[in-house]
Amino acid sequence: MNRRSTKQRQAIQSVLEDTRIHLTGDELLLCVKEVIPTVNAATLYRNLNVLEEERVVSRVSVGGKTFFEHTADQHSHFYCHVCERLIAVDADALPTPSQETLRTTSGFVAERVSLLVEGTCAACSTEHTEMAASGCASCPSLCSNVISEAETKEIACKIEA
Ligand SMILES: [Zn+2]
Ligand SMILES: [Zn+2]
Repeated sequence: MNRRSTKQRQAIQSVLEDTRIHLTGDELLLCVKEVIPTVNAATLYRNLNVLEEERVVSRVSVGGKTFFEHTADQHSHFYCHVCERLIAVDADALPTPSQETLRTTSGFVAERVSLLVEGTCAACSTEHTEMAASGCASCPSLCSNVISEAETKEIACKIEA
């Protein structure tokens, strides 16, 4: 592996370091470009494939979109059809069967247990969507590509050059 791709992989990893963040390839590309302006989609995906093989990064495909995330934290997901975001769900909100239960009941040898639930997130629930449609001042960009202001801030490229 050459030094350039090592640097790119480090940049990708630092973007995804917060394991609660799920970014599409396009979003990831924008963030990595902040550090390495010469990076293009082809090199990004090549490096993502390597990171996936190394089980550092995993992808979740839902709703015609593919999200990438760091594998450090195992959690289930909720996909919102309105804002099209993938949200991490804690185990207490969405209990998953244990690897032992899966083995004894079905004979499955599970390496990773993660559920995917689809629907409408809290922020995009009917009431809020109506507010947004009529011009909710407090959530100008809600239902476009973000869940909340807090998460938008988190998604904003936080990698150090
Ligand atoms: Zn939503
Ligand atoms: Zn996740």
